[in-house]
Amino acid sequence: MQRPVPSEVADRILARCFGEPIAYRELRELCDHVGGRTSGAESGAQAEAWALRAFARCGIEQTLADPLTVPVWKRGSLTVEVQGVGAAPIAALAHGFAPEACDIAAPILDVGYGLPADYARLGDLARGAMALCSEAAPEGQRAPHRTEKLAWAVDHGVAGLMIMGSAPGCLPRTGVCHRSGSPIPSVGITREDGERLRRMLEDGLRPTGRIAMTNTITEGTAHNILADIPGCDEPSEIVLAGGHLDSWDVSQGATDNGLGCAIVLQAAHALCGVGRRPRRTIRFALWAAEETGLRGSRAYVAARRDELDSIVGVMNFDMTGDPYGYWTPGRPEPPEMLHGLARQLAPLGMREEFGHTAGLHSDHQPFMLAGVPVVCLSARGTEGGGGAYYHSVGDTFEKVSQPALCRAAAVAAHTLWALADCEQPPYRRMSDAEVTSMIEAAGLKDAIID
Ligand SMILES: [Zn+2]
Repeated sequence: MQRPVPSEVADRILARCFGEPIAYRELRELCDHVGGRTSGAESGAQAEAWALRAFARCGIEQTLADPLTVPVWKRGSLTVEVQGVGAAPIAALAHGFAPEACDIAAPILDVGYGLPADYARLGDLARGAMALCSEAAPEGQRAPHRTEKLAWAVDHGVAGLMIMGSAPGCLPRTGVCHRSGSPIPSVGITREDGERLRRMLEDGLRPTGRIAMTNTITEGTAHNILADIPGCDEPSEIVLAGGHLDSWDVSQGATDNGLGCAIVLQAAHALCGVGRRPRRTIRFALWAAEETGLRGSRAYVAARRDELDSIVGVMNFDMTGDPYGYWTPGRPEPPEMLHGLARQLAPLGMREEFGHTAGLHSDHQPFMLAGVPVVCLSARGTEGGGGAYYHSVGDTFEKVSQPALCRAAAVAAHTLWALADCEQPPYRRMSDAEVTSMIEAAGLKDAIID
């Protein structure tokens, strides 16, 4: 069987990804010179300027900063503490879109995983309580997003919500908890503080939890940064490769998601060096405001409804580690092209492993829900251990694995080339009915919060 990417193209991609790993250096600049970046705020604008410069340095001539209006939530002051018995401060971070001002104290109640079943078990006890839950889910169950846990807490009359992290290391996590101003305060606390509170409750103590916070919500303009390698035969047909540019404010946003941006940039650098243009257009996209509700990618899909039929495939890179397979949500039969790519890229660690259960909460989502083919990489965690620092102050540059970044970029570049230059695209757009059955098969019907 012929290789999906011909040798003369593959050789150039590999030479650039491993001989000129420029994106690692670009990522270092993003982490150190810009750091945490909020779409719609000054830090977000600095990151967008970095992205435009970086694409130009990759050799891309055609770029666009596509504007959108976004709400800008800014962290203010925060005090979280145990009062009364065992009084002590609690290390915490407010969740995105936590209220602009509040100061509440309430008895702490362990609500387990914070699932509807937990509240059913607790009955009226939850009303007016300071709910404490873990961020995880029971073994074998889908872990709900924190926006779902907050919605259930609100439904059951909870006064405030503390979600404890699962990774050890005394680092609280932030993350979005609501689409806009949240009706109740919620914070991420450390696993260690959460375990202590649980032990106190087990011992029959009745600690009171206090959350006092100020935050601001304003409006700002952010931009999706788009960069094209125009196709030579079918320029209106598009293969998209994206990752979100924004991060949480508290860290450098290195693995979430400077890493995904760097993979996109490195793939762009590699594909600019091929020496000829593919049949279709390859569009690179660094999305705005993913962390506050996939706003950049949603805006793109909403504004380009008419063009969605001509998107041949979308790749999304969000905290992508070391790749080993493909994830094509809702598409259980892998086409021969992906089998061929997996075999061709076996020396980089790819295997003929294909996942197809739909998942949410990154920038592939609006495309997937519109039926556009999504072709992502399945990847494992890397030796930097970035996942443990997700959404905490510890998400810094040195957590990124350069070898894994380069491998992911090389796999991405091959895949993009194969999709952009093949004679017949391997996928077609799904119908609404097909999208609905994909979502139902994955048990996500109630998880999509608009
Ligand atoms: Zn992310």
